[in-house]
Amino acid sequence: MSTSSARYVSTRGHSPETDFSDALLRGLAPDGGLYMPTAWPTLSPQAWTREADYKAIGLQTIAPFIGDALPEGALARAVDRVVAGFGHPLVTPLVELEPGLFLLELFHGPTAAFKDLAMQLVAALTDEALTASGQRLTILTATSGDTGAAAVRAFAGARSVDLVVLHPLDRVSPVQRKQMTTVQADNVLNLAVRGDFDDCQRLVKGLLSDPSLRERGRLSSVNSINWARLAGQIPYYVSATAQLGHAATFVVPTGNFGDAFAGIAATRMGLPSNGFVAAVNQNDALARALNDGLYSRRPAVESGSVSMDVQAPSNFERLVFEATGRDAEATRAVFETFARDGAVVFDPALLNALRAEVSAVSIDEDETRAEIAHAHQTWGRVVCPHTAVALAVARRQDRAKGPVVALSTAHPSKFGGFVSEVLGFEPAPAPVIAALGDQPERLRIVDGTMEAALDAVTAFSDRH
Ligand SMILES: *Cc1c(COP(=O)(O)O)cnc(C)c1O
Repeated sequence: MSTSSARYVSTRGHSPETDFSDALLRGLAPDGGLYMPTAWPTLSPQAWTREADYKAIGLQTIAPFIGDALPEGALARAVDRVVAGFGHPLVTPLVELEPGLFLLELFHGPTAAFKDLAMQLVAALTDEALTASGQRLTILTATSGDTGAAAVRAFAGARSVDLVVLHPLDRVSPVQRKQMTTVQADNVLNLAVRGDFDDCQRLVKGLLSDPSLRERGRLSSVNSINWARLAGQIPYYVSATAQLGHAATFVVPTGNFGDAFAGIAATRMGLPSNGFVAAVNQNDALARALNDGLYSRRPAVESGSVSMDVQAPSNFERLVFEATGRDAEATRAVFETFARDGAVVFDPALLNALRAEVSAVSIDEDETRAEIAHAHQTWGRVVCPHTAVALAVARRQDRAKGPVVALSTAHPSKFGGFVSEVLGFEPAPAPVIAALGDQPERLRIVDGTMEAALDAVTAFSDRH
C-alpha cells in the first residue's frame, strides 16, 4: 500500500499540481499564485486533548501535508529541532491574564519572536528535501532585521543550504545585528551593505537573476508565502486549545496574514474554535476590506508594531481562494484587478464568505501605547507593541462565548525603545538576547553595488 500523497494547487489555477517538496522549494507557484493543499486533512480529536505535547501535536498536524514527499523520519527530526530550540517545555505556553482572557506566548524561540516556529521547521525540512535529492540551494534574502535573524538561526549548519543575508549597515538594531552575526556557521554569509533596506532588496533581486550565479546552482529567497511556513504555524492553535481544554476565540496580531490563516487552516482540519479576529495597526487594508468591502492599497505607515507594517497582506489570497469555494479564476480576477488598479470591490457573496472566516479591527499608535500601560498596571506584564495591538482587540471580545486568546508574537525586549517610551524603563532582556553578550561577530561590509555584492557571494560559494 502506498502512503498518502499530499498534493498542491495554485490559488491562480494555472500551475501544474505538485507535491510538498516542490511547493516547499519553490515558495511561489509559477503562475504567481500561492500553493494550497488540494484537500484539508482531518485531525483526530486526540490532538487537542490535554495530554498532547507539542511534539505529538506537530507530528500529527503536519505529517498529512507532507505525505510521502520526504524521507522517513524527516518530519520527526524537524519537529525535534523546533522543540529543542525553544526555552520552554510547552514551546508555546498559554498564560491566563484574568478570567477568560489568555496570552499565547510564541516568543520562547532562538530569536524571541514567533517567526522562529515556522522558520525552524522550514529550514529543517528544506535541508531534508535537498539532501534526499542530492541538490544544493543558495538562499538570498534582504532584511531590515527580524526575518534575517530568524533565517540565520534556522539555517545555520544546514547541510545542503547556503544562506546569504543582506542587511543595511548600521541601520538594524544592535540586537538584530548580533542575532545574525554571532552565529558561527560556515554556510551563512552576512553582508552589511553601505545603503538602506531598499538597496539590499535591489541587490538581492539582481543576484537572484544573475546568470553567473544561476549557473552555479539553484537560487531562492526566504518568503512569507511558502506553504510550509504556514503549516508550521498550525500546531500552536492546536496546542492552545489542548492547554485550554476548550474552544477559543483567537485574536491574531496581523501583517501578512500568515499567522491568522494558519488558525483558519487548523479549523478546516477540524479544530473547534469560536472564530478569528485579525488585529492590525494603522496599516489597515485588511480591516477596511473586511469592514467596507473595498480592498485598496495605501502607502505603508511606520508604526511601533513594525513587523505588521504591511499594506497588501500576501496570504490574504489564500483566504479569498477558500472564501470563493476554491475558485481559482475568481481569485485570479480579484488579485489581478488589485495589482492593476490598486483596489478591488468584493461582491456581496464573497464579502459574506470572508466575514464568516475572520473579522478585523485596526488599533492606532495611541491605543497601542495605552494598552502597553494597561497591561503593566493591571497584570504587571510588559508586552511588545504587536502583542498590545492584539490585547487591545481581545479585551473588546465577548467572553460569554468562551475564552479569548491573544497571540503574543514577540518578547518586549526586542522592541525596548517603544516600550520604554511608554513605561519609562527598558524591559528585561529575553534569555536568548542576554546571551548574545559580546560574542564575536561575523560579517562582511560591502558597497551597495552589484559588483561588490556579486564578488562577495561568488567568493563565498567558491569556498566549497
Ligand atoms: C511577522 C510578525 C507579525 C505578523 O504576522 P503575519 O503572519 O505576517 O500576519 C506579528 N508580530 C510579530 C512580532 C511579527 O514578527
